[in-house]
Amino acid sequence: MLIPKTHPRAASLHIREKLVQGFRDGLVVEEGLLAHGRGEMFDYLIGEKTTKTSHKAIKAAAIALVMAKLPVISVNGNLAALCTKEIVELSKVTGAKIEINLFYASEKRKKIIAQYLKKNGAKEILGIDTKFSKSITKLDSARRIVDKCGIFSADVVLVPLEDGDRTIALKKFGKKVITFDLNPMSRTAQTADITIVDNVIRGMKILIDTCKKLSKEDLEKKPKFDNKKNLKKSILIIRKNLRKMANA
Ligand code: ATP
Repeated sequence: MLIPKTHPRAASLHIREKLVQGFRDGLVVEEGLLAHGRGEMFDYLIGEKTTKTSHKAIKAAAIALVMAKLPVISVNGNLAALCTKEIVELSKVTGAKIEINLFYASEKRKKIIAQYLKKNGAKEILGIDTKFSKSITKLDSARRIVDKCGIFSADVVLVPLEDGDRTIALKKFGKKVITFDLNPMSRTAQTADITIVDNVIRGMKILIDTCKKLSKEDLEKKPKFDNKKNLKKSILIIRKNLRKMANA
């Protein structure tokens, strides 16, 4: 579908098209389309832009990723469909490993996602060779399986668009968790160490840029970051926008 640039929701419709293409190509499952719908609703409420609050979280995330000993980007179908190039670039900029981890696990889908990433320049992709599979405790189903050289050994894990159970399990397993989640009230948003309340498609680009621009002072000073306080500010932004709409 050709969406005119002048359409008031052009950006959001382009993102939706990208995800639908990912679904047609076999990266995304039906449930992923629904999860995206939930995200779209919250994107609408935050004003479909990267807020000052999200910029603050992005800076904290950039510092954590660049300072990490072994950072890992956990990739699911939605993230691969929306941010293929950005996953690869962020991995290059921070030295983070790329690991595929799916809520609805399927070897076929893992292969398709790996091919997509490789086509966009990824050299090493973890999570596809069962020889290196390890289990993180306290989690049922295939989601507990991680790569020995990736998430299992990582100190910092970026898990965008994640469900609460897995985020909680990663925290219990001692990982520093960074996430992108448009819903500041979700269990993932509330459990992570750093939550970027932004559409991943906008936020990933800014995160890459921020990593590139970090100064020596940023890394030495490590500015304080309070996730709970930052999340409260995102909720207040939503409340303000709702009030504005109600009074219009
Ligand atoms: P939780 O289990 O953490 O309480 P949930 O049940 O909503 O949350 P899922 O449906 O598994 O979890 O995860 C989808 C999350 O990702 C939702 O919070 C949704 O708002 C968010 N999301 C969806 N699409 C995007 C996107 N493009 N960018 C950022 N966040 C998104």
